[in-house]
Amino acid sequence: MHAHWGSPDQNGSEHVIDGIQYPMELHFVHYNKKKYSTFSGSIGQPGGIAVIAVLVQIGQNNVEFEKISTLLVAHRIKRDTDSGEDGKANGSGETFQLPTIITNIINGLEKLFDFRKLLPDSLDYFAYEGGLTTGNYEKCVQWIVLRNSITISKEQIDTLHGVSAANFRPLQPLLGETKLERNFR
Ligand SMILES: [Zn+2]
Repeated sequence: MHAHWGSPDQNGSEHVIDGIQYPMELHFVHYNKKKYSTFSGSIGQPGGIAVIAVLVQIGQNNVEFEKISTLLVAHRIKRDTDSGEDGKANGSGETFQLPTIITNIINGLEKLFDFRKLLPDSLDYFAYEGGLTTGNYEKCVQWIVLRNSITISKEQIDTLHGVSAANFRPLQPLLGETKLERNFR
């Protein structure tokens, strides 16, 4: 799992629904283990990757997300201490990629962490075949974008704004053949 976000002045979701861009978007990334032995081996391959995208808006505090934001704050303090910085958020000298950090954190937290609690109650979704939003944007992703959003608090998203600048790919033009499906009426 990883996340994309904007800045305090700019929303950062990579999908928009009815023209609305959200402050943040979570990606639950899956690869097809039956066909490919590693995640990297599935990139760019047919039927390689499926991503469940969850849009996030500002609202109630999210208890499950708090596990991540708490660790990010701890990591930021450690990083700033190690590098002799003054502990300010948004300092220059960013030397890490947050998605990797989050991945490492989650790997260590598997037993403490319940991904289902980061999903909305309704699992209505839009689905289409598209590409990755990082790297070489390989066209190998079955996207499943949940129709309903979840909330995190302003304080929680401020934590993310403090550890990294905006990291979302701007909206791209639809390819002519893109077919949007949905599981609800
Ligand atoms: Zn992503």
